[in-house]
Formats: sequence, C-alpha cells, structure tokens
Amino acid sequence: MTNKLKKRRKRQVKEQQRQQLLAEKGQKKRVRHNTAANQEKHRADWQPLEPNEQGVIADRRIMPRDEQTRRIQTAVASQQAISANIDEALWQELAAESPFQLGMVVEVSRGLCRVAVDGRILICDLRGALIAEGSGYTNVTAVGDRVLVQLLAEDRGLVEEVLPRRSGLARPDSFDVHLKQIIAANVEQALIVASWREPHLWLQLIDEYLIGAARNNLTAVICINKIDLAEDTAMCRELVRPYADLNYSLHLTSAATGQGLDDLRAALEGKTTVLAGMSGVGKSSLLTVMDGNLNLKTNAVSLKRHEGKHTTTQAVMLPFGQNAYVVDTPGIREMGLDGLRQPELLDFYPDVAEFIAGCRFNDCTHSHEPGCAVKTAVADGTLVEWRLENYRKIYQSIPE
Ligand code: GDP
Ligand code: ZN
Repeated sequence: MTNKLKKRRKRQVKEQQRQQLLAEKGQKKRVRHNTAANQEKHRADWQPLEPNEQGVIADRRIMPRDEQTRRIQTAVASQQAISANIDEALWQELAAESPFQLGMVVEVSRGLCRVAVDGRILICDLRGALIAEGSGYTNVTAVGDRVLVQLLAEDRGLVEEVLPRRSGLARPDSFDVHLKQIIAANVEQALIVASWREPHLWLQLIDEYLIGAARNNLTAVICINKIDLAEDTAMCRELVRPYADLNYSLHLTSAATGQGLDDLRAALEGKTTVLAGMSGVGKSSLLTVMDGNLNLKTNAVSLKRHEGKHTTTQAVMLPFGQNAYVVDTPGIREMGLDGLRQPELLDFYPDVAEFIAGCRFNDCTHSHEPGCAVKTAVADGTLVEWRLENYRKIYQSIPE
C-alpha cells in the first residue's frame, strides 16, 4: 500500500468510528442524497447483526444495569436501529409514552398493512412522513414490525411510527442492488423444513438455509418431514445426524402420522419463527396439523380483497398456538448466500474448519490435493462426505 492509500484508509476508519460514536450517542445521522458512498455506508449498517467493538449485541444479562438502559435509549434514538437488546417491554414503554396504540404488522402490501392491535386486526395506511429513503431499505415496514397506530375507525388505523427492531430479515432489492427490501422484522428463529421424499431430501439447500439463519442471527430448527415415506427411519436419522452433532434442534416428522409433532410444536412455542423450505415439503400441512386454528390460505388473500387488484402479498405473520407466531414468506432462500464471500464460508462449517489446519497446502481446496487433512477426515469417517461436498459446491457458487 502506498502512503497515500494508507492515509486514506486511516481517514476512512476514523470516519467510521466517528459515525459509530454518533450512532452510539443517539444522534441521528443526516442522510444527504443517494450517493454511491452513502448507499455503501447504509448497506454496511444493515448487514446481519454482529457484535461490534462496543458489544452492542452483547448479552444483556452480563451488562451493568445503567449500561443496558443507555444502549436501549441509544437504539431508540436512532429510528432504524436494530439491536438484540430491544424487547417487548421496551416497545410497551414507548407506546405508553405516546398517544398511540402498540400494534404488530401482520401483513404488508403496497402502502397498506394489516396490524394486530389488542387482538383486533386493523387495516392501516402509513403516515406519509414515514419514508424508506435513507434507511437502506426500499420499504418502510414489514411483518413483525412493532408500530404505533392511531385508531381511526373500528377497523381502520394509521401507522404513525415504526419502532426499533430486534432483528431484520432482508433481501437485495430486485431493482437497486444497493438497497435491500426488509421482508420480516423481529423474527427469532427459522424453521427449515425439508422432506425425506417427494420432493427428495436436498441437503445442500438445508445447509444454505442454515447459513442464512446464522447470518441473520436466527436460531435454526431443522425439520425433516414425510418420514412416513422412509423405508428405514434409523437410516434416515443416521444420514442427518451431523446436524444434531452440530447442536441444531433436529426433528424427524410426519404430518401424516403425527410423528415428532409434539417436539416440533414445543420448539416453536413462545417464539416468532420464519418458515423456510421448498414448496411441497409439507410446511402448511405441518402447521395446520399442529394448530387447528391456523388458516394459512385465507389469511394470505384477505388483504388482496380489501385493496383490489395489483397487490403483491409478500409475507404473512400468523399466530401459532397460544403465544407464538410463524412468518410465511416466498423467496426466503436468496437471503442465505447473498453477499457471502468464499473466505467467510468456513465460519459456517465448523465441522470442516476443524481439520484445515492440517492440510499441507495453505490454499488447499480439499478436492484433489495431496496431504489434505479434510479428505483424510472423510476417509476415516470423522467427517461425513456430504458436508464437505456441500461446502465445496457452495464455495464454488459464491464470489471470491
Ligand atoms: P408446502 O408447500 O411446503 O406448504 O407443502 P404442503 O403442506 O402443501 O404439502 C405438500 C403435499 O405433501 C401435500 O399433498 C400433503 O398432503 C403432503 N404431505 C405433507 N406432509 C406430509 C407427510 O408428513 N407425509 C406425507 N406422506 N405427505 C405429506
Ligand atoms: Zn485440504
């Protein structure tokens, strides 16, 4: 690096630190225009949650009391803040301080949304002042958002404010790659559903969803459904055992016979869970069998009827059981690998990473090289072959 470059880099780092400090102090950044530099900055702001130097995502229990309050206040001061420290109590507090009602967005369509307020569903407009510009997102609100609502009529309201988010699932906007579309907010875990057969079990896709879940700070729950179609359940369990070994919550289920459903239901209890999985694997069947009150199909079309034509229903949030929610959304797959680069992939394969220090070559691709410790691990049965295969396939599919 030349001296000039070094200096420039130093300045950039300084500026980043200054911005971070500003954000920490709760001073809202002024957003000028949609310059490329600005977009880049905001993109950086919206990457999946990772603890920063200030430990913003640090477990709240290990923080001194004042510190915890300070961080929460900081998060509130900046409208678009995402922080794992945000919780139900904070949302209620904010609502109590306002003249409005606390609600949760359960469905969004162009400029209109359905909001659950006190057990009622209101059709709401968004206040015009709520604009996505400068947030790094193309849309203002998504399912799962806690919002402040002004009641207008028995079934109508106006969204006055979108409250800070605990987490956000986003995907690249299809028209402007610099921006993202937020598809669900405040989700805690992902239920990854695959089927043993019809469609055939696709382990690479499960791996990709797992990466997506990890990058979005979601706990992953894996469900292998249609286990009634397996000739040999034990063999099936053995095949997917690496997931259990990696400490994922793993469920072999059948919506047809009811096998495994009690455990799966328990895994969803009290949580907000986003569904991931190919069409046809049995997501709707599983949910319907576990919760007879759930009505997936009718919920998904109700807003369409209200608004008339040209609606794109993107994601629905449904109450599940007594105190849980599930988010059903198309296109969740793209979230997984977007923006992921080859050197980062190993972070999501701790079972592969364990061996690479032993490879003879630094740039070993673990495919044909002599002295590859990863291949040796596969050969002696310490590492299952399909995990390495998936790793290599995904590696080749993402940019350097
Ligand atoms: P989704 O697209 O993931 O929501 O899948 P569906 O719930 O619509 O299920 C797709 C098809 O698989 C339907 O015909 C279901 O009856 C069937 N199915 C769902 N779960 C099971 C299961 O556990 N065992 C068997 N044999 N069939 C199932
Ligand atoms: Zn190797």
